[in-house]
Amino acid sequence: MTKFYVTTAIDYVNGEPHLGHAYEKIGADVLTRYMRQRKADAFLLVGTDEHSLNVARSAAARGQDPRLYCDEMAAVFAAAYQKLGISYNRLVRTSEPKHKVLVEKLIARMHQEGHVYQGEYSGWYCESCEAFMDEDQLVDGKCPTHPTREVKWLKENNYFFALSNFGQRLLEHIESNPQFIQPETRRNEVLMRLKEGLRDISISRSSLDWGIPLPMDPAQVVYVWVDALMSYLTGAGVTDVDQLGEWWPADYHIIGKDILWFHCVIWPAVLMALCIPLPKAVSVHGFMRSPTGERLSKSSGIIIDPLVLSEKYGHEILRYYLIKNIHWGRDCNFSTDELELLYNNDLANDYGNLLSRTTAMVEKYFPRGLHVDDSSDVLDQELIGTANAAIDTFNKAFSTLDFSAGIAAVVELVSKANKYVDLTAPWILAREEKLDRLSTVLYRLLDSLHTATVLLAPVMPDHCQKVWQQLGLSGSPSDVDPSCLAPGSYPLKATVSRGEAVFPRWERK
Ligand SMILES: [Zn+2]
Repeated sequence: MTKFYVTTAIDYVNGEPHLGHAYEKIGADVLTRYMRQRKADAFLLVGTDEHSLNVARSAAARGQDPRLYCDEMAAVFAAAYQKLGISYNRLVRTSEPKHKVLVEKLIARMHQEGHVYQGEYSGWYCESCEAFMDEDQLVDGKCPTHPTREVKWLKENNYFFALSNFGQRLLEHIESNPQFIQPETRRNEVLMRLKEGLRDISISRSSLDWGIPLPMDPAQVVYVWVDALMSYLTGAGVTDVDQLGEWWPADYHIIGKDILWFHCVIWPAVLMALCIPLPKAVSVHGFMRSPTGERLSKSSGIIIDPLVLSEKYGHEILRYYLIKNIHWGRDCNFSTDELELLYNNDLANDYGNLLSRTTAMVEKYFPRGLHVDDSSDVLDQELIGTANAAIDTFNKAFSTLDFSAGIAAVVELVSKANKYVDLTAPWILAREEKLDRLSTVLYRLLDSLHTATVLLAPVMPDHCQKVWQQLGLSGSPSDVDPSCLAPGSYPLKATVSRGEAVFPRWERK
Protein backbone atom coordinates (compact mmCIF):
# COMPACT_ATOMS: atom_id res chain seq x y z
CA MET A 1 0.00 0.00 0.00
CA THR A 2 1.32 3.46 -0.90
CA LYS A 3 2.07 5.57 2.16
CA PHE A 4 0.92 9.17 1.99
CA TYR A 5 1.74 11.64 4.75
CA VAL A 6 0.06 15.05 4.94
CA THR A 7 0.77 17.68 7.56
CA THR A 8 -1.00 20.94 8.38
CA ALA A 9 0.51 23.91 10.15
CA ILE A 10 0.37 23.34 13.88
CA ASP A 11 -1.80 25.95 15.52
CA TYR A 12 -0.88 28.54 18.08
CA VAL A 13 -3.01 27.90 21.12
CA ASN A 14 -3.19 31.55 22.16
CA GLY A 15 -6.74 31.84 20.79
CA GLU A 16 -9.74 29.81 19.64
CA PRO A 17 -9.73 28.19 16.19
CA HIS A 18 -10.89 30.60 13.48
CA LEU A 19 -12.08 30.08 9.93
CA GLY A 20 -8.53 30.25 8.56
CA HIS A 21 -7.49 27.28 10.69
CA ALA A 22 -10.61 25.42 9.61
CA TYR A 23 -10.02 26.10 5.92
CA GLU A 24 -6.50 24.72 5.96
CA LYS A 25 -7.49 21.59 7.86
CA ILE A 26 -10.49 20.98 5.60
CA GLY A 27 -8.28 21.22 2.49
CA ALA A 28 -5.78 18.79 3.99
CA ASP A 29 -8.59 16.47 5.05
CA VAL A 30 -10.14 16.47 1.57
CA LEU A 31 -6.76 15.56 0.07
CA THR A 32 -6.23 12.80 2.64
CA ARG A 33 -9.70 11.34 2.16
CA TYR A 34 -9.19 11.41 -1.61
CA MET A 35 -5.91 9.50 -1.24
CA ARG A 36 -7.56 6.97 1.08
CA GLN A 37 -10.28 6.52 -1.52
CA ARG A 38 -7.47 5.74 -3.95
CA LYS A 39 -6.36 2.98 -1.58
CA ALA A 40 -3.32 4.81 -0.24
CA ASP A 41 -2.44 4.40 3.42
CA ALA A 42 -2.80 8.11 4.17
CA PHE A 43 -1.86 9.78 7.45
CA LEU A 44 -3.04 13.27 8.37
CA LEU A 45 -1.22 15.20 11.08
CA VAL A 46 -2.61 18.22 12.90
CA GLY A 47 -1.07 19.77 15.96
CA THR A 48 -0.75 22.52 18.49
CA ASP A 49 2.14 24.93 18.84
CA GLU A 50 2.45 25.47 22.54
CA HIS A 51 5.85 27.00 23.28
CA SER A 52 5.89 30.70 22.74
CA LEU A 53 5.81 34.02 24.43
CA ASN A 54 2.23 34.56 23.22
CA VAL A 55 1.08 31.32 24.80
CA ALA A 56 2.90 32.02 28.06
CA ARG A 57 1.20 35.43 28.13
CA SER A 58 -2.27 34.10 27.32
CA ALA A 59 -1.87 31.61 30.18
CA ALA A 60 -0.67 34.33 32.55
CA ALA A 61 -3.61 36.53 31.58
CA ARG A 62 -5.90 33.75 32.78
CA GLY A 63 -3.77 33.19 35.86
CA GLN A 64 -3.01 29.68 34.65
CA ASP A 65 0.06 27.53 34.45
CA PRO A 66 1.05 27.33 30.74
CA ARG A 67 0.88 23.53 30.82
CA LEU A 68 -2.70 23.48 32.09
CA TYR A 69 -3.66 26.24 29.71
CA CYS A 70 -2.21 24.24 26.77
CA ASP A 71 -4.01 21.07 27.87
CA GLU A 72 -7.29 22.95 27.74
CA MET A 73 -6.56 24.65 24.43
CA ALA A 74 -5.35 21.46 22.72
CA ALA A 75 -8.67 19.88 23.71
CA VAL A 76 -10.54 22.87 22.24
CA PHE A 77 -8.71 22.46 18.89
CA ALA A 78 -9.23 18.69 18.86
CA ALA A 79 -12.97 19.09 19.47
CA ALA A 80 -13.25 21.76 16.76
CA TYR A 81 -11.52 19.56 14.18
CA GLN A 82 -13.74 16.63 15.03
CA LYS A 83 -16.82 18.81 14.53
CA LEU A 84 -15.51 19.88 11.12
CA GLY A 85 -15.09 16.26 10.02
CA ILE A 86 -11.27 16.36 9.95
CA SER A 87 -10.19 12.71 9.84
CA TYR A 88 -6.77 13.28 11.36
CA ASN A 89 -4.63 10.38 12.57
CA ARG A 90 -2.68 12.28 15.18
CA LEU A 91 -2.69 15.62 16.94
CA VAL A 92 0.91 16.35 17.88
CA ARG A 93 1.60 18.72 20.77
CA THR A 94 4.93 20.49 21.07
CA SER A 95 4.78 20.10 24.86
CA GLU A 96 4.74 16.27 24.51
CA PRO A 97 7.66 14.45 26.16
CA LYS A 98 8.36 12.55 22.89
CA HIS A 99 8.72 15.83 21.06
CA LYS A 100 11.04 17.30 23.67
CA VAL A 101 13.33 14.26 23.52
CA LEU A 102 13.52 14.42 19.72
CA VAL A 103 14.13 18.18 19.55
CA GLU A 104 16.95 17.90 22.10
CA LYS A 105 18.59 15.12 20.07
CA LEU A 106 18.32 17.02 16.82
CA ILE A 107 19.63 20.32 18.20
CA ALA A 108 22.54 18.53 19.91
CA ARG A 109 23.32 16.86 16.60
CA MET A 110 23.27 20.15 14.67
CA HIS A 111 25.58 21.62 17.31
CA GLN A 112 27.99 18.65 17.18
CA GLU A 113 28.10 18.79 13.40
CA GLY A 114 29.11 22.44 13.51
CA HIS A 115 25.88 23.93 12.11
CA VAL A 116 25.15 25.85 15.32
CA TYR A 117 27.36 28.52 16.96
CA GLN A 118 27.05 31.15 19.68
CA GLY A 119 26.75 34.86 19.00
CA GLU A 120 25.01 38.08 19.85
CA TYR A 121 21.78 38.99 18.18
CA SER A 122 20.00 42.27 17.98
CA GLY A 123 17.14 43.28 15.75
CA TRP A 124 13.48 44.17 15.38
CA TYR A 125 11.24 41.44 16.68
CA CYS A 126 7.52 40.86 16.02
CA GLU A 127 6.08 39.01 18.98
CA SER A 128 3.02 37.89 17.02
CA CYS A 129 5.16 36.26 14.32
CA GLU A 130 7.74 35.21 16.93
CA ALA A 131 10.31 36.32 14.37
CA PHE A 132 13.03 38.84 13.80
CA MET A 133 12.39 41.26 10.96
CA ASP A 134 14.90 42.95 8.72
CA GLU A 135 14.64 46.73 8.63
CA ASP A 136 13.50 46.61 4.99
CA GLN A 137 10.73 44.12 5.77
CA LEU A 138 8.99 46.59 8.07
CA VAL A 139 6.13 48.70 6.74
CA ASP A 140 5.84 52.07 8.48
CA GLY A 141 8.06 50.64 11.19
CA LYS A 142 5.71 47.73 11.80
CA CYS A 143 5.42 44.05 10.90
CA PRO A 144 3.57 43.79 7.55
CA THR A 145 1.45 40.87 8.86
CA HIS A 146 0.66 42.58 12.16
CA PRO A 147 0.30 46.30 11.41
CA THR A 148 -1.57 46.89 14.68
CA ARG A 149 1.32 45.65 16.84
CA GLU A 150 4.60 47.32 17.74
CA VAL A 151 7.88 45.59 16.87
CA LYS A 152 10.51 45.50 19.63
CA TRP A 153 14.27 45.96 19.56
CA LEU A 154 15.75 42.79 21.02
CA LYS A 155 19.35 42.10 21.96
CA GLU A 156 20.38 38.66 23.17
CA ASN A 157 23.26 36.26 23.36
CA ASN A 158 21.90 33.41 21.30
CA TYR A 159 22.77 30.28 19.39
CA PHE A 160 22.75 30.61 15.63
CA PHE A 161 22.03 28.15 12.85
CA ALA A 162 24.40 28.60 9.91
CA LEU A 163 21.58 28.98 7.40
CA SER A 164 23.81 30.91 5.00
CA ASN A 165 25.77 27.72 4.24
CA PHE A 166 22.71 26.16 2.63
CA GLY A 167 21.68 28.84 0.12
CA GLN A 168 23.20 27.17 -2.90
CA ARG A 169 21.86 23.71 -2.07
CA LEU A 170 18.37 25.12 -1.44
CA LEU A 171 18.43 26.98 -4.73
CA GLU A 172 19.47 23.84 -6.59
CA HIS A 173 16.82 21.75 -4.85
CA ILE A 174 14.00 24.19 -5.59
CA GLU A 175 15.11 24.70 -9.19
CA SER A 176 15.43 21.01 -9.97
CA ASN A 177 12.17 20.03 -8.15
CA PRO A 178 9.42 22.23 -9.58
CA GLN A 179 6.76 20.49 -7.46
CA PHE A 180 8.57 21.27 -4.20
CA ILE A 181 6.84 24.62 -3.69
CA GLN A 182 3.28 25.01 -4.97
CA PRO A 183 1.82 27.11 -6.48
CA GLU A 184 4.42 28.53 -8.83
CA THR A 185 3.94 32.14 -7.68
CA ARG A 186 5.12 31.12 -4.20
CA ARG A 187 8.02 29.17 -5.65
CA ASN A 188 9.15 32.25 -7.58
CA GLU A 189 8.81 34.37 -4.45
CA VAL A 190 11.13 32.04 -2.52
CA LEU A 191 13.63 31.79 -5.39
CA MET A 192 13.80 35.56 -5.69
CA ARG A 193 14.49 36.05 -1.98
CA LEU A 194 16.98 33.16 -1.93
CA LYS A 195 18.99 34.78 -4.69
CA GLU A 196 19.42 37.84 -2.47
CA GLY A 197 21.43 35.65 -0.08
CA LEU A 198 20.79 34.18 3.34
CA ARG A 199 21.70 35.31 6.82
CA ASP A 200 22.23 32.96 9.74
CA ILE A 201 19.32 32.79 12.16
CA SER A 202 19.08 32.72 15.90
CA ILE A 203 17.56 29.44 17.10
CA SER A 204 17.43 30.07 20.83
CA ARG A 205 15.91 32.51 23.29
CA SER A 206 17.37 33.43 26.66
CA SER A 207 14.48 35.64 27.81
CA LEU A 208 11.88 32.88 28.02
CA ASP A 209 11.54 29.76 30.12
CA TRP A 210 8.41 28.20 28.54
CA GLY A 211 10.03 26.01 25.92
CA ILE A 212 12.47 23.17 25.28
CA PRO A 213 15.85 23.82 26.95
CA LEU A 214 18.86 23.89 24.63
CA PRO A 215 20.79 20.66 25.27
CA MET A 216 24.16 22.46 25.24
CA ASP A 217 22.97 25.46 27.29
CA PRO A 218 19.82 24.78 29.34
CA ALA A 219 19.56 28.45 30.37
CA GLN A 220 18.15 29.06 26.89
CA VAL A 221 15.15 27.53 25.14
CA VAL A 222 14.85 26.43 21.52
CA TYR A 223 13.33 29.12 19.31
CA VAL A 224 9.64 28.25 19.00
CA TRP A 225 9.73 28.07 15.21
CA VAL A 226 12.50 25.46 15.07
CA ASP A 227 10.70 23.47 17.74
CA ALA A 228 7.41 23.77 15.82
CA LEU A 229 8.82 22.59 12.48
CA MET A 230 10.32 19.52 14.14
CA SER A 231 6.83 18.45 15.24
CA TYR A 232 6.30 17.13 11.70
CA LEU A 233 8.94 14.54 12.53
CA THR A 234 7.59 13.77 16.00
CA GLY A 235 4.11 13.38 14.54
CA ALA A 236 5.41 10.89 11.97
CA GLY A 237 7.01 8.75 14.66
CA VAL A 238 10.59 9.84 13.91
CA THR A 239 12.79 9.28 16.99
CA ASP A 240 16.25 10.15 15.64
CA VAL A 241 18.09 11.09 12.43
CA ASP A 242 18.44 7.41 11.55
CA GLN A 243 15.08 6.31 13.00
CA LEU A 244 12.66 7.88 10.52
CA GLY A 245 9.76 5.46 10.98
CA GLU A 246 7.30 4.59 8.24
CA TRP A 247 5.88 8.00 7.28
CA TRP A 248 8.74 10.43 6.73
CA PRO A 249 9.34 12.18 4.33
CA ALA A 250 6.01 14.02 4.15
CA ASP A 251 4.21 14.01 0.81
CA TYR A 252 2.69 17.42 1.57
CA HIS A 253 3.19 20.15 4.10
CA ILE A 254 0.04 22.27 3.82
CA ILE A 255 0.54 25.83 5.02
CA GLY A 256 -0.58 29.45 4.70
CA LYS A 257 1.49 31.93 2.75
CA ASP A 258 2.56 33.83 5.88
CA ILE A 259 4.83 30.93 6.91
CA LEU A 260 6.29 30.24 3.47
CA TRP A 261 9.87 31.19 4.40
CA PHE A 262 9.98 28.94 7.47
CA HIS A 263 8.78 25.92 5.47
CA CYS A 264 10.56 26.44 2.18
CA VAL A 265 13.92 27.75 3.38
CA ILE A 266 14.60 27.32 7.11
CA TRP A 267 13.01 23.88 7.46
CA PRO A 268 14.67 22.23 4.43
CA ALA A 269 18.02 23.73 5.51
CA VAL A 270 17.61 22.27 9.02
CA LEU A 271 16.80 18.88 7.45
CA MET A 272 19.84 19.16 5.16
CA ALA A 273 22.01 19.90 8.18
CA LEU A 274 20.65 16.76 9.85
CA CYS A 275 20.93 14.64 6.65
CA ILE A 276 17.19 13.88 6.84
CA PRO A 277 15.30 13.66 3.52
CA LEU A 278 13.25 16.74 2.60
CA PRO A 279 9.44 16.73 2.34
CA LYS A 280 8.27 16.09 -1.23
CA ALA A 281 6.10 19.19 -1.50
CA VAL A 282 4.90 22.29 0.31
CA SER A 283 1.48 23.46 -0.82
CA VAL A 284 0.59 27.03 0.06
CA HIS A 285 -3.03 28.12 0.36
CA GLY A 286 -4.28 31.68 0.36
CA PHE A 287 -5.84 33.68 3.18
CA MET A 288 -9.46 33.75 4.10
CA ARG A 289 -10.63 37.31 4.43
CA SER A 290 -13.67 38.96 5.94
CA PRO A 291 -16.64 39.81 3.65
CA THR A 292 -15.08 43.25 3.20
CA GLY A 293 -11.57 41.94 2.53
CA GLU A 294 -9.76 42.21 5.89
CA ARG A 295 -7.48 39.44 7.05
CA LEU A 296 -9.00 37.11 9.63
CA SER A 297 -6.76 36.66 12.61
CA LYS A 298 -6.63 37.05 16.32
CA SER A 299 -4.21 39.94 16.09
CA SER A 300 -6.39 41.87 13.62
CA GLY A 301 -9.38 41.26 15.90
CA ILE A 302 -11.49 39.94 13.01
CA ILE A 303 -12.65 36.44 13.76
CA ILE A 304 -15.21 34.23 12.04
CA ASP A 305 -16.02 31.19 14.15
CA PRO A 306 -16.16 28.06 11.96
CA LEU A 307 -18.16 26.22 14.61
CA VAL A 308 -20.94 28.81 14.52
CA LEU A 309 -21.13 28.39 10.73
CA SER A 310 -21.00 24.63 11.06
CA GLU A 311 -23.85 24.74 13.59
CA LYS A 312 -25.95 26.88 11.27
CA TYR A 313 -25.35 25.19 7.91
CA GLY A 314 -23.84 21.81 8.80
CA HIS A 315 -20.11 21.20 8.65
CA GLU A 316 -20.20 19.42 5.31
CA ILE A 317 -21.96 22.36 3.66
CA LEU A 318 -19.27 24.68 5.02
CA ARG A 319 -16.64 22.26 3.66
CA TYR A 320 -18.32 22.22 0.26
CA TYR A 321 -18.39 26.00 0.10
CA LEU A 322 -14.74 26.43 1.11
CA ILE A 323 -13.50 23.72 -1.26
CA LYS A 324 -15.62 24.64 -4.28
CA ASN A 325 -15.65 28.40 -4.00
CA ILE A 326 -12.01 29.07 -3.14
CA HIS A 327 -9.21 28.35 -5.56
CA TRP A 328 -6.50 26.69 -3.49
CA GLY A 329 -3.58 29.09 -3.33
CA ARG A 330 -5.61 32.27 -3.76
CA ASP A 331 -7.19 34.61 -1.24
CA CYS A 332 -10.93 34.76 -0.84
CA ASN A 333 -13.46 36.93 0.95
CA PHE A 334 -15.78 34.80 3.01
CA SER A 335 -19.47 35.44 2.47
CA THR A 336 -22.49 33.67 3.92
CA ASP A 337 -24.59 35.06 1.04
CA GLU A 338 -22.34 33.22 -1.40
CA LEU A 339 -22.43 30.10 0.73
CA GLU A 340 -26.22 30.06 0.74
CA LEU A 341 -26.42 30.76 -2.97
CA LEU A 342 -23.89 28.06 -3.82
CA TYR A 343 -25.71 25.56 -1.62
CA ASN A 344 -29.06 26.23 -3.26
CA ASN A 345 -27.67 26.20 -6.79
CA ASP A 346 -25.29 23.25 -6.69
CA LEU A 347 -26.69 21.04 -3.97
CA ALA A 348 -30.41 21.74 -3.47
CA ASN A 349 -31.46 22.61 -7.03
CA ASP A 350 -28.99 20.47 -8.96
CA TYR A 351 -27.61 17.43 -7.15
CA GLY A 352 -30.41 17.03 -4.58
CA ASN A 353 -33.09 17.62 -7.17
CA LEU A 354 -31.55 15.11 -9.59
CA LEU A 355 -31.56 12.54 -6.81
CA SER A 356 -35.16 13.10 -5.74
CA ARG A 357 -36.65 13.25 -9.23
CA THR A 358 -34.68 10.19 -10.40
CA THR A 359 -35.51 8.03 -7.37
CA ALA A 360 -39.16 9.13 -7.55
CA MET A 361 -39.43 8.08 -11.22
CA VAL A 362 -37.68 4.76 -10.65
CA GLU A 363 -40.05 3.93 -7.77
CA LYS A 364 -43.07 4.98 -9.77
CA TYR A 365 -42.27 3.32 -13.10
CA PHE A 366 -40.11 0.36 -12.05
CA PRO A 367 -41.04 -0.62 -8.49
CA ARG A 368 -39.35 -3.98 -9.07
CA GLY A 369 -36.18 -2.50 -10.57
CA LEU A 370 -34.86 -1.52 -13.99
CA HIS A 371 -34.62 -4.25 -16.61
CA VAL A 372 -32.39 -2.91 -19.38
CA ASP A 373 -29.65 -0.41 -20.22
CA ASP A 374 -29.12 0.22 -23.91
CA SER A 375 -27.32 3.56 -23.88
CA SER A 376 -26.86 3.86 -27.63
CA ASP A 377 -28.78 7.09 -28.21
CA VAL A 378 -26.72 10.18 -28.96
CA LEU A 379 -28.04 11.87 -25.79
CA ASP A 380 -26.89 8.88 -23.73
CA GLN A 381 -23.49 8.97 -25.32
CA GLU A 382 -23.16 12.69 -24.63
CA LEU A 383 -23.97 12.18 -20.97
CA ILE A 384 -21.45 9.31 -20.76
CA GLY A 385 -18.89 11.60 -22.39
CA THR A 386 -19.51 14.28 -19.76
CA ALA A 387 -19.16 11.67 -16.99
CA ASN A 388 -15.84 10.48 -18.42
CA ALA A 389 -14.61 14.06 -18.65
CA ALA A 390 -15.73 14.76 -15.07
CA ILE A 391 -13.87 11.72 -13.72
CA ASP A 392 -10.75 12.63 -15.65
CA THR A 393 -10.78 16.32 -14.72
CA PHE A 394 -11.58 15.52 -11.11
CA ASN A 395 -8.67 13.11 -10.68
CA LYS A 396 -6.17 15.41 -12.37
CA ALA A 397 -7.37 18.38 -10.33
CA PHE A 398 -7.46 16.62 -6.96
CA SER A 399 -3.99 15.17 -7.54
CA THR A 400 -2.66 18.73 -7.80
CA LEU A 401 -4.88 20.16 -5.00
CA ASP A 402 -6.97 22.13 -7.51
CA PHE A 403 -10.07 21.10 -5.59
CA SER A 404 -12.26 23.84 -7.00
CA ALA A 405 -11.75 22.71 -10.61
CA GLY A 406 -12.38 19.09 -9.62
CA ILE A 407 -15.71 19.88 -7.99
CA ALA A 408 -16.73 22.18 -10.85
CA ALA A 409 -16.41 19.19 -13.21
CA VAL A 410 -18.79 17.18 -11.01
CA VAL A 411 -21.28 20.04 -10.91
CA GLU A 412 -21.10 20.14 -14.72
CA LEU A 413 -22.01 16.44 -14.87
CA VAL A 414 -24.98 16.88 -12.52
CA SER A 415 -26.23 19.86 -14.45
CA LYS A 416 -25.91 17.94 -17.73
CA ALA A 417 -27.88 15.04 -16.20
CA ASN A 418 -30.69 17.41 -15.23
CA LYS A 419 -30.81 18.72 -18.81
CA TYR A 420 -30.87 15.12 -20.02
CA VAL A 421 -34.09 14.59 -18.01
CA ASP A 422 -35.70 17.52 -19.82
CA LEU A 423 -34.49 16.33 -23.23
CA THR A 424 -35.49 12.67 -22.84
CA ALA A 425 -38.80 13.49 -21.03
CA PRO A 426 -39.23 10.17 -19.17
CA TRP A 427 -42.86 10.95 -18.31
CA ILE A 428 -43.70 10.93 -22.04
CA LEU A 429 -41.82 7.65 -22.51
CA ALA A 430 -43.96 6.24 -19.67
CA ARG A 431 -47.19 7.47 -21.20
CA GLU A 432 -46.21 5.95 -24.55
CA GLU A 433 -45.14 2.75 -22.76
CA LYS A 434 -41.62 2.79 -24.24
CA LEU A 435 -40.39 0.84 -21.25
CA ASP A 436 -36.99 -0.26 -22.61
CA ARG A 437 -36.08 3.30 -23.46
CA LEU A 438 -37.46 4.55 -20.13
CA SER A 439 -35.36 1.97 -18.23
CA THR A 440 -32.25 3.07 -20.11
CA VAL A 441 -32.87 6.76 -19.41
CA LEU A 442 -33.36 6.13 -15.70
CA TYR A 443 -30.28 3.93 -15.65
CA ARG A 444 -28.21 6.79 -17.15
CA LEU A 445 -29.47 9.10 -14.41
CA LEU A 446 -28.71 6.66 -11.59
CA ASP A 447 -25.30 6.02 -13.07
CA SER A 448 -24.58 9.78 -13.24
CA LEU A 449 -25.59 10.12 -9.60
CA HIS A 450 -23.34 7.18 -8.73
CA THR A 451 -20.36 8.89 -10.40
CA ALA A 452 -21.05 12.29 -8.81
CA THR A 453 -21.48 10.74 -5.36
CA VAL A 454 -18.14 8.92 -5.46
CA LEU A 455 -16.41 12.14 -6.52
CA LEU A 456 -18.08 14.33 -3.89
CA ALA A 457 -17.40 11.88 -1.05
CA PRO A 458 -14.04 13.38 0.10
CA VAL A 459 -15.78 16.72 0.66
CA MET A 460 -19.15 15.57 2.07
CA PRO A 461 -18.74 11.96 3.25
CA ASP A 462 -21.92 11.81 5.38
CA HIS A 463 -24.24 13.40 2.82
CA CYS A 464 -22.81 11.19 0.09
CA GLN A 465 -23.43 8.13 2.24
CA LYS A 466 -27.12 9.11 2.49
CA VAL A 467 -27.34 9.51 -1.28
CA TRP A 468 -25.61 6.15 -1.68
CA GLN A 469 -28.29 4.45 0.42
CA GLN A 470 -31.09 6.03 -1.61
CA LEU A 471 -29.40 4.73 -4.74
CA GLY A 472 -29.72 1.25 -3.20
CA LEU A 473 -25.97 0.72 -2.95
CA SER A 474 -24.15 -1.17 -0.24
CA GLY A 475 -20.84 -0.15 1.31
CA SER A 476 -19.69 3.43 1.02
CA PRO A 477 -18.84 5.87 -1.77
CA SER A 478 -15.67 6.63 0.22
CA ASP A 479 -14.49 3.09 -0.57
CA VAL A 480 -14.77 3.46 -4.34
CA ASP A 481 -11.51 4.48 -6.05
CA PRO A 482 -12.23 7.59 -8.19
CA SER A 483 -9.20 6.89 -10.37
CA CYS A 484 -10.71 3.54 -11.45
CA LEU A 485 -14.25 4.87 -11.83
CA ALA A 486 -16.02 4.56 -15.20
CA PRO A 487 -19.57 5.26 -16.39
CA GLY A 488 -21.69 2.10 -16.31
CA SER A 489 -20.45 1.09 -12.84
CA TYR A 490 -23.90 1.44 -11.29
CA PRO A 491 -25.47 -2.03 -10.83
CA LEU A 492 -28.62 -2.30 -12.97
CA LYS A 493 -30.45 -4.43 -10.43
CA ALA A 494 -29.96 -2.16 -7.41
CA THR A 495 -33.13 -1.41 -5.44
CA VAL A 496 -33.62 2.33 -5.25
CA SER A 497 -35.34 3.66 -2.16
CA ARG A 498 -36.34 7.26 -2.16
CA GLY A 499 -35.83 8.91 1.21
CA GLU A 500 -35.98 12.33 2.75
CA ALA A 501 -34.41 15.22 0.84
CA VAL A 502 -30.64 15.10 1.45
CA PHE A 503 -30.21 18.76 0.44
CA PRO A 504 -33.41 20.66 1.35
CA ARG A 505 -33.50 24.18 -0.06
CA TRP A 506 -31.99 26.77 2.25
CA GLU A 507 -34.60 29.37 3.14
CA ARG A 508 -33.32 32.54 4.65
CA LYS A 509 -34.59 32.99 8.18
ZN1 LIG B 1 4.21 39.82 12.78
